[in-house]
Amino acid sequence: MSDVTCRGTKADGSRCGSTIGLSDEGLCIQHDPKRQRLVEEGIQRSIETRAEKKAIRDAILPDGIPSGPPRTVDDCVKWSAWAMNAVALNVIPARTAECIAKCATTFLAGLKHRDQERELEELRQVVKELRKEAKR
Ligand SMILES: [Zn+2]
Repeated sequence: MSDVTCRGTKADGSRCGSTIGLSDEGLCIQHDPKRQRLVEEGIQRSIETRAEKKAIRDAILPDGIPSGPPRTVDDCVKWSAWAMNAVALNVIPARTAECIAKCATTFLAGLKHRDQERELEELRQVVKELRKEAKR
């Protein structure tokens, strides 16, 4: 690893210390005045990309859709309830609701299987301990 660090100064007056992307003058991109425009353009692009993603999300996703993928049984119930309501109000096609129902069923079966495996493993450990004690 390089010992050369940025010569720039942070807002609190301490030395920057960055080792990444140093210029010939020993300045990182944040402290190099020659690359200031590049930084500003990057920030602007990031803002535009985020705004575009939000606009797409707002335009495509129906009202009230649960945010993010389901991770728990409660999340799955929220998704199913939302899909029922959305299909009844003709917000989403019946085919989409059917797919959500299938996914929810598969997801819940996966959770159940996982939980049963964990419980089985715990019971295996208990049996193992009991057998050890019985041998004594
Ligand atoms: Zn720096």
